[in-house]
Amino acid sequence: MGSFAGKAAIVTGGSRGIGRAIALKLAAEGADVAVCSRTLEAAELVAGEIEQLGVRALAQRTDVSDSEQAEALVKAVQQRFGRLDILVNNAGITRDGLLMRMKEEDWDAVLTTNLKGAYTCSKAAVRPMMKARWGRIVNIASVVGITGNAGQTNYAASKAGLLGFTKSLARELASRNITVNAVAPGLVPDTGMTADLDEEMVTRMLSQVPAGRPGTPEEVAHAVAFLASDEAAYVTGHVLSVDGGMAM
Ligand code: NDP
Repeated sequence: MGSFAGKAAIVTGGSRGIGRAIALKLAAEGADVAVCSRTLEAAELVAGEIEQLGVRALAQRTDVSDSEQAEALVKAVQQRFGRLDILVNNAGITRDGLLMRMKEEDWDAVLTTNLKGAYTCSKAAVRPMMKARWGRIVNIASVVGITGNAGQTNYAASKAGLLGFTKSLARELASRNITVNAVAPGLVPDTGMTADLDEEMVTRMLSQVPAGRPGTPEEVAHAVAFLASDEAAYVTGHVLSVDGGMAM
């Protein structure tokens, strides 16, 4: 039995990449885990992997930018698992380009998914957490929300926004035994997201990593698991960089 035995978690965007690694880590530690994405089939595959770890799983088609779908997700989790303890706001997209050429729809899509998505899911999840007087919310931000990155004004703004969101919600919920923290990964290749990055940007970012190598989804998942644990009860409003030293 791992440290999350008897707990239930949601990982948004858990169908691949970093979200999948987080879902599997929480499940390996004993949590029942729900994964959502806009593509049900991919989420179902991860749910199958979760069940193989001996815990319960739920796969749900959800667009986190839609409040009603976020509420439906939380309701489905409560029906299936009878509780909700941990929310990981991981779903995210990029639509890169220099500001002068950035289409308004690309700005809106990134802000709506990455930032509004954390609002919709947190708002739905906070209710059961308040009732239980225990909760963990972990928002997946990014190193570029701290440092900025040419060609990613929309993405960096969404991730910087998540940091303000994290600290503000942490202040609102601290007295209820609910912590709200962020993990800011550096470059984590081999996910759907980084496949979209242009090669020049990847090379430039890697040259700025003091550790001299990219990160792995599992390294991000370990940090999330710590912040979601009982042991991290006194850590809230914190931004934990998992970036090989990139942001310092
Ligand atoms: P991937 O593209 O591999 O995965 C993104 C996940 O989010 C998928 O499951 C995707 O599924 C889901 N998703 C996207 N939009 C929505 C939506 N509107 N509603 C619900 N689910 C959605 O990305 P990564 O694993 O690389 O990234 C995960 C998180 O980590 C993101 O927040 C990203 O910004 C952050 N991050 C990643 C870094 C990296 O280098 N990879 C670095 C720093 C931060 P579907 O498309 O089917 O909806």
